[in-house]
Amino acid sequence: MPWRVNADFYRVWISEIMLQQTRVEAVIPYYERFLGRFPDIAALAAAPEQDLLAAWSGLGYYSRARKLQAAARRIVREGIPSTCEAIRELDGVGPYTAGALASIVFGLPHTAIDGNVLRVISRLTNDPAEISAPATKRRFDAVALTLLDPVRPGDFNQAMMELGATVCKPRLPLCDVCPVRTFCAAREAGTERALPVKRKPPKTREVRLALALFRNGSGIYLVQRDAGQSRLAGFWELPAKELFPGLRGRVAAEFSHQIVNDRFRVRVSDCRVPAELPAGRWVKPDEMDALPLATITRKALSAVRNAPGFSA
Ligand code: SF4
Repeated sequence: MPWRVNADFYRVWISEIMLQQTRVEAVIPYYERFLGRFPDIAALAAAPEQDLLAAWSGLGYYSRARKLQAAARRIVREGIPSTCEAIRELDGVGPYTAGALASIVFGLPHTAIDGNVLRVISRLTNDPAEISAPATKRRFDAVALTLLDPVRPGDFNQAMMELGATVCKPRLPLCDVCPVRTFCAAREAGTERALPVKRKPPKTREVRLALALFRNGSGIYLVQRDAGQSRLAGFWELPAKELFPGLRGRVAAEFSHQIVNDRFRVRVSDCRVPAELPAGRWVKPDEMDALPLATITRKALSAVRNAPGFSA
């Protein structure tokens, strides 16, 4: 992983925030671009919000980027925190991230328990408790603390996460090659595939989204979410078709996109430009990368560009 080379505070911190809710393979290119654009804490603290959101575009959960910058500004004022408790006070940092930073960067004896580690502990101890329950998390944290190597806590935490990600996998744990199989109670009991016990996820809700594509030469018309909108404030997107009663157009692209429990069925229609447009701007393809675009907008523009018979 690129963040394991020169594991300084900034690099590990950025990687841990990006890895919340996003897979490792998806994070790596974003991480490298982000560090190229904001090479240190001062650069991140000073970045205009639009540049920051543009660099985060596609990673989702954009409040992470805003909290990251708020924390960077605090660090510029107060210095890099070097205890787990002080790290925990930064915006966007929960117990897992604070433990990871304290142990990996400063070698402090704190656990870092992510979903992978929870799964490993539930199997090592053959514990059938539901893993999102606070009491279960507290119990598993106590187990992790008894296992933690006080001399190399950062390596221990990373090894536990790696064990969960690559060997003690959710559906098919690779017990035959597992380095801790002789200590594993679930393996002994034959219950490894039944663990961990998880709450049933809420039902997926289907949301239909109709977007209007207006073209003018090589430009595409985008509108910006205003600051009053809690989700994606400041982001640019295709206008919703419902803003133009009676507007018709040829279907240029259709696709699905899942955000947590919402499955969006998105239809993009190529429409004639109406006489009046809401506040927005014409954007050329080579200007898109500099703008914050939510994943649905990126997918829509890419689907349209790849649609047969379409030329932007
Ligand atoms: S022996 Fe199997 S269930 Fe136990 S920790 Fe290893 S991979 Fe997981």
